[in-house]
Amino acid sequence: MHVKEVDGTFSLPLDFLQFRKLSELQEFCVILESKPKDALLCMSASLHKVFFEKLGDESFDDFVKINIRLHNYPESVIALKNLKAAYIDRLVYVRGTVVKVSTVKPLVMQMDFACTKCGTSITRDFPDGKFSPPPICKLHGCKCRTFNPIRSTARLIDFQKIRW
Ligand SMILES: [Zn+2]
Repeated sequence: MHVKEVDGTFSLPLDFLQFRKLSELQEFCVILESKPKDALLCMSASLHKVFFEKLGDESFDDFVKINIRLHNYPESVIALKNLKAAYIDRLVYVRGTVVKVSTVKPLVMQMDFACTKCGTSITRDFPDGKFSPPPICKLHGCKCRTFNPIRSTARLIDFQKIRW
């Protein structure tokens, strides 16, 4: 197994068919197909434990996440143009040709906001990159609805649009 590192992000390419053949837990492969998000997170956590604890690999500290990059899943192959909402949260294997890419832009995944009345800081997650301040201050009795973004806490990812 070879973990690749690109700009601080770790990933492990994994052949799906081979994994299914070698896997002793058939139930896990079923879950991987029906609930890929949960299954892939479990796999990442297990990998981290193996590298960090058993192999004593210093390059994977507590905060490193190893992303699993599945490939070779021919049964579920669909063309990119058929990738529709029905496939959300499902495991699919997509094939297509990219004809145009946008420039890489930063997307805010998480940021803290400070209440303008009491100063309480509230962390907001933006899993789809849609950015919004908290609706109301959570401090008991404050109820303030205006916040200032604390820009230094922003957690950014590179984001790029593709056309096919
Ligand atoms: Zn407040």
